[in-house]
Amino acid sequence: MNDKSPVSLDLNRRRFLQFSTGAGAAALLASSGLTANTIDTRARIVIIGAGAGGMAVANRLSRRLNGASITVVEARETHHYQPGWTLVASGVWKPEKTVRPNSQFMPGNVDWIRSSATALDPDNRTVALANGETLSYDYLVVATGIQLNYEEIEGMSADLVGQHGIGSVYASLEGATRTRDLIDQWIARGQGQGIFVHAPTPVKCAGAPLKMTLTTLSRLEATGNRDQFQVDFFSPGGGVFSQPWVNDFVIQRFAEQGVNRHSFHTLTAIQPQDRTATFTLGDGSTVTRDYDFIHVVPPMSAPDAVRNSALVNEEGRFGGNWLDVDMYTMQHNRYPEVFGIGDVIGAPINKTAASVKAQAPIVEANLIAAIQNQPLPRKHNGYTSCPLITGIGKAMPVEFGYDMEFLPSFPFIDPKEESWATWTFKDRMLQPAYYAVLEGRA
Ligand SMILES: Cc1cc2nc3c(=O)[nH]c(=O)nc-3n(C[C@H](O)[C@H](O)[C@H](O)COP(=O)(O)OP(=O)(O)OC[C@H]3O[C@@H](n4cnc5c(N)ncnc54)[C@H](O)[C@@H]3O)c2cc1C
Repeated sequence: MNDKSPVSLDLNRRRFLQFSTGAGAAALLASSGLTANTIDTRARIVIIGAGAGGMAVANRLSRRLNGASITVVEARETHHYQPGWTLVASGVWKPEKTVRPNSQFMPGNVDWIRSSATALDPDNRTVALANGETLSYDYLVVATGIQLNYEEIEGMSADLVGQHGIGSVYASLEGATRTRDLIDQWIARGQGQGIFVHAPTPVKCAGAPLKMTLTTLSRLEATGNRDQFQVDFFSPGGGVFSQPWVNDFVIQRFAEQGVNRHSFHTLTAIQPQDRTATFTLGDGSTVTRDYDFIHVVPPMSAPDAVRNSALVNEEGRFGGNWLDVDMYTMQHNRYPEVFGIGDVIGAPINKTAASVKAQAPIVEANLIAAIQNQPLPRKHNGYTSCPLITGIGKAMPVEFGYDMEFLPSFPFIDPKEESWATWTFKDRMLQPAYYAVLEGRA
């Protein structure tokens, strides 16, 4: 083999990186005021996406790595606190409460490229950007979040949210706000048919479709004319939530609150002008229903840049749609220099900001170990949480892991009990905690 071949150059570069991390760390301990945990390295790290996951990892790595080149690719100037959108769509929060500038959280010592990744080539360790640049990396963190595939529902598109009785808390902050307005209008009419659905794919915050149903029910009951409103919930599977106890709880609550539930019904088409929605059943037959208000939950996947790359799951449940990482170590299953965090990964649960909080220290520790050529020291237990708003003013924590067991953060809060305390936690305390995660402090 030619000494100057890309593979040979690459091996040399990796050996150099390994050497410089070890030597550098020792030198730092001896000669600088930096902490023992600070690692000296010249690794080139590219982080794609600076939402909850990408921003948390950028902050953590920028503090731990001395001399690294860290590049963050993120086109948006604005950071959205998405967990607040259910409160916006339920009329509890003002929309502007969920918005901050990305510059508030971006560490000063990273190179922030305001563009988006269009193609990922892990065999050559490059990322092509929409602005025409191509970045090379030694280590890559994929943190692109999720893609909303509204167009997979025939007749549907994101810009329909807010028109023809179509709401969707997921679409955007504007979409959540328009959803709030449509629910207000429906309630003001004093009667009618509301349809709520779940999606046939994994979705971010799988509790959000339930929360939108339960807060709307709360508001319908507050009118004193609940009987004038018909509410139906359609789900593609037999249940409504992955955690079995919560699933049973919500199904029972829907029954108590007069929600007509339809299992094995997938929303596959919508006719906005007619205000009708078509569902496909397990046997392929279809049923079409009228609505006055419908809450649409789109099918979701990793963004196309990931889906169209070699980094995507090749087969199985997540095949063709999600980032192929080990859901415990967060390291890519075939490209060890690639890590993933957040909604983009192929995992059975986990698409929450609470999961990002748990994953960020794992990615930090394991990526730094990879740079040092050490075994990966940490594993993620699948911790996820999505405070289930069971009505305006009450919620339950809903914290669990891959094994579906509850993982309560507060021993004094019963994970199976609705309470005003958990509502207050969701309403007042989660947002500051979320920003601490972005800053890499929690
Ligand atoms: C309505 C709603 C309610 C929710 N409620 C809760 C809750 O109660 N509790 C909870 O814990 N979580 C909740 N979540 C989920 C939570 O917001 C997400 O799980 C979390 O934001 C995931 O972080 P992420 O970094 O993976 O994705 P995001 O935070 O979405 O960030 C992804 C970033 O990647 C960028 N990006 C995308 N594609 C590219 C590309 N090709 N190139 C470069 N950049 C790219 C995007 O611009 C974005 O900034 C909710 C979400 C929604 C929508």
